Formats: sequence, C-alpha cells, structure tokens
Amino acid sequence: MTTDAKRELEIPRALTVRELATLVEETPVQMVKLLMSSGVMADVNKTIDYETAAIIAVDLGFDPQEAGEAPAEAKAPPPDEKLPAATDADDPSTLQPRPPVVALLGHVDHGKTSLLDAIREANVVATEAGGITQHIGAYQATVNDRLLTLLDTPGHEAFTQMRSRGAEATDIAVLVIAADDGVMPQTREAANHIRAAGVPLIVALNKIDLEAANLDRIKTQLTEAEIVIEEYGGDVPFAPVSAVTKEGLDGLLETILLVADLQNLQANPDRPADGVVLESGLDRRQGPRTTLLIKRGTLRVGDPLLVGETWGRIRAMFDFSGGPLKEATPSVPVAVLGIQGVAAAGQPFHVVESDRAARRLYERAKRQREDEQAKLERAVSLDTLFGEISRGDVQELNLVLKADVDGSIEPLRQSLEQLTNEEVHVKVIHAAAGAVSESDVTLALAARGMALAFNVGTEPGAQKLAAAEGVEIRRYDVIYELIEQIEAAISGMLEPVNVDVVNAHAEVLQVFSIRRIGNVAGARCDDGTIDSGLSLRVHRGGEEIASGQIRSLRRFQADAREVQAGQEFGVALTGFDDFQTGDQLEFFHTERQSRILKDGRVQVVPSQSA
Ligand code: GDP
Repeated sequence: MTTDAKRELEIPRALTVRELATLVEETPVQMVKLLMSSGVMADVNKTIDYETAAIIAVDLGFDPQEAGEAPAEAKAPPPDEKLPAATDADDPSTLQPRPPVVALLGHVDHGKTSLLDAIREANVVATEAGGITQHIGAYQATVNDRLLTLLDTPGHEAFTQMRSRGAEATDIAVLVIAADDGVMPQTREAANHIRAAGVPLIVALNKIDLEAANLDRIKTQLTEAEIVIEEYGGDVPFAPVSAVTKEGLDGLLETILLVADLQNLQANPDRPADGVVLESGLDRRQGPRTTLLIKRGTLRVGDPLLVGETWGRIRAMFDFSGGPLKEATPSVPVAVLGIQGVAAAGQPFHVVESDRAARRLYERAKRQREDEQAKLERAVSLDTLFGEISRGDVQELNLVLKADVDGSIEPLRQSLEQLTNEEVHVKVIHAAAGAVSESDVTLALAARGMALAFNVGTEPGAQKLAAAEGVEIRRYDVIYELIEQIEAAISGMLEPVNVDVVNAHAEVLQVFSIRRIGNVAGARCDDGTIDSGLSLRVHRGGEEIASGQIRSLRRFQADAREVQAGQEFGVALTGFDDFQTGDQLEFFHTERQSRILKDGRVQVVPSQSA
C-alpha cells in the first residue's frame, strides 16, 4: 500500500449519522449537510445503512469496507429472550373479574366533559392525596360498590385520531348526544369508530333538562344512522340524562354496569403486567411521565418494562388523584415515572423479567425500526424533497414539530399540513413530544426549515446551535396562534401576482373607417371612467375576441382625457380593427397584488400598480 492510497475504513451495516461523523472525523452538523447534499435527510441520531455511509466516505477520500461483525447491540439476544406478545393467552382458571373501561364519545359540545365531571363529582371517593384529581387521561369511579374506569379523552374533532385510539383500550363506548341538537356529523363519525373497534355501545341522551329536547326525533335519527336502540328492536341501550341536573346519571351508570356484566370482563392479575399507553408527556423536573392502563397482570414499582418504542423501570407510580401506589391491577390507570423516553399514546407496554432484558429488547427493536427507517428515508428524501425543489414548482416549508403531550401532535400536524396549497408545500418532517433538542435543530437546518415548539422549551445546546446556524425556533402556547403565524410565514413565500382590475364597460354603436388608422369603434360608456392609459378587451357573443392597449381615444364633443358613464367616444385598439356594432368593450388596467394565506385560502391584497 502506498502512502497516497485511500484510507481504509470499516463501516458497520447500520450506524447513526453521529457515529459516521466520528469515523470520518467530521462534525455531526457537517455530516448532516453532506448527507443532505446526497439527497438523504437525516438528523444526527438517525441510523443510516452501509451503502449510504459508504458514498459519503468515498467522497471524503476513504476506501470503505463493510464491517464483518454487526455492532454489539444488534447481536441477537439469548434464545430464551423473546419480545413479549399480547397474544399469550392466560389459563381460564387464572382469570378474575376486572372493572370495565369506558370511553365517552360524541359531537363537540354535546356534554362529554360535563358528564365526566358529573360522574367524577358524584362517584369518586376522595383519596388520601386529598381527592384532587389530576388529568392523567382516565379516572376511576365507584358505582354500587363497583369500580368503573373512565377514559377522559379529549372530544374535539381535531382529536379524532386520539379518540380512535381511546376506543381501542375501551370495553364500553358511551355515545353522547345532546337532546336539543340530535345526531350530528361527529356523532356518526364516533359511531363508526365504535363499530370499527367492535366495542359495545350505549347512547347517552344528554341535556334532557332543556325545553328543546325532542326524544322521539332523536330516536328516529339514530335509526337512520343505523344505531338501533332496544326500544326499536335493536341492541343499543338508551339512557336519557342531564349532566346539569344529574337526572338519569345513576341510570346511565347502572346501564354501563349491566353492559359490563354481559361482557364478563376478566383478566389474570398474577402475571407480569401489560397494557396500553394513554398519555405521555415530559415533566421538567421528573422526566417523562407516562399514563398506563393495565390490561392484565399487576404492575409494581421497580418493574422493568418496554413501553412503545422506549423502555424503563418504574421509579414511582401514582393513581389518578396523585396518590402514590405500590402496585396496580387490571383496568387501573396509573401515572408512572422512570420511563426513558416519551411513548406514543395507544402504544402497548409489557413488563419484562429484568432491566437488562428490557434494554436489550429495546435496542433490538430500535435497530429493526431504524434499519427499516434508513431504507425508507433514502427513498422519501430523494424523490420528494429534491424532486419537488428541482422542478421548481413547489416551495417547501419543512417543519420540525415538538409538543408537550403526545396527544397534541397529530391534530397539530394535520392542521399544519392542511395549510399546503398549490405553491407552498407544508411538511412536518419530524414530530415528537419533548423539548426542542440539538438533533431537532440539525434536522431543521438540513431541511432548510424551522422548528416549532408547542408548549415546550428548547434545550440550551439546541438554542446555541440554532443561533449559530440561523435556524428559527418559534414557540407557541395556543394552537390558533401557531396556525395563524405559519399562515403568515407561507404568505411571505407566495409570489405576488398581476391581477386585471376592470375600470369601465362600453358598447359599440357604430364603426367608422378612418384613413391610416383603420376601423374605429364609436361607443357609449355604460359605467366607470375611461382614460387613454387603459387596456381594452373586445367581447362578441359572450366571447373575448381581442385584447390590447388603447391606440387612441377621442370624445366627440370635447377633447377631454377622460370619458365618463353615459358619454359617447371613439376608440382604436392596437393590433385589431375588426369592430362590429354590438361588441362589448371592457376597459381595464393591471395591478401587482401580494397574496396571503388566510383561513386556509390564498387571497390577494392590492398593493402597487404594475
Ligand atoms: P363536550 O364538548 O362534549 O365535552 O361538551 P361540554 O361538556 O363542554 O358541554 C358543552 C356545553 O353544554 C357546556 O356549556 C355545558 O354546560 C352544556 N351542557 C352539558 N351538559 C348539559 C346538560 O345536561 N344540560 C344542559 N342544559 N347543558 C349542558
């Protein structure tokens, strides 16, 4: 080997951008930029495959080789260690009754929150923590000495996604309908979600205290929506109620218990726990705070577990009133501390035998995901990002979105991406719960976009990097403000347009032939004011037949510069003289107008004349 031969470099089958940067002795930010210039969009923590890394290495003067050994973490775990599956059935003899998990769904303002509050007030026993209920996405109520778990999911239409996830952890769905309003679009939508999830349904007809309540009309509407109540020969229980006067509240709760009894809800409490994530967020001092709903087994402080795409060991556990818990059984919602990352709502969790097993299983699942992601990312970035930009017909607004709770992400992403129009493409390239990190900034930088922080802060390192590289981080606390400002940003990306503004209309009464000029139209101005600086369009039989600058404009009586409505005049047009009696003339000028995005539509605002 000679001294000027390329330096040999062993590159693993898969590695993070940061690892590659270290290997080739570049800064992580420089590496992100290099990847960008080869059409790969990846932040410093993204895993890329050998092929991608090798291209960069060659460019940097290396002679890359694929490493013979996969990295230590990617080694298969011992054969006895398996990813826990939710399908390993429990022996029937181990099953014991568990409380039903109930979700309230329905159209906005029909009273879901009021009903949840009414049930909480009447049926939640104050605990040692003082009975101050915390919002953890669920709470438990006692009815006739029996426990019910109520999911406290947000009901706004933007939260459709969360709601459908909510229904998955649900044993019984209560469809709330306001008696004065009846079946509405979101009522039907909710009913479809419930049907799709195969969950038993109860109709709670709320606001029966109101004068406008019309029970018969609503029963008919329900039948039309294919929700057939028992009274009409169907199997859907119907409970009239008022969250305000509490009339019918006990009846509704008893109906829920009856439906629960028919389902014979059971679980094995004597096994490692599993279940589903209800919510998760980041506590500034305590780290990730995750709400779990236990489906089977008993969850204990100290348990190691896999949670969605992260893992941890339970450091502390609380019930919905904030009281500390040592253990929790099936159908109990708990908030836990000690999870390493922020898990997504609706993801499963499983307790495993040891911290080491949890960590190893996590690493393995992560590698698998990232391998898939690495393949995916190469495809996506090449044809979408560069394709669109090079065609020049789409401008991109790339956004990295960070939010306080997982549940805010989907609605925000949807609202933002809906701002996309023919000219500006709004793309959320990364969205997650938690503060804006350095890797978020690099990603925004690489994509020439910006970072949005919804109700979260920015890590000091990220702040510095953003300032150094000129990446914009915008912080918002209110959704509509965020949307409005992004609309404004998009407005700044819209090119001004030339718009024709009509000044006057006229009708041709006769046609004169004038030597050296040709045919001139003798016309009468119907409305507006005409001057010689305007342009002219000629319409015949509803169609435009000519258009151009005024060549000459004459008033028959006086030699004025302007012609007013009602006055007769003669006009010649540049490049056209085939006028006929009855032609309609439209006089106009062109204005340059800026455009803004407002209420989801591109609108023009007059500025200067062209
Ligand atoms: P959500 O959007 O479904 O959660 O609806 P809310 O619980 O926020 O209720 C919407 C509005 O209806 C509020 O102004 C409530 O005070 C009112 N409301 C809720 N339940 C009742 C009820 O039983 N009777 C009356 N009269 N008003 C109610």
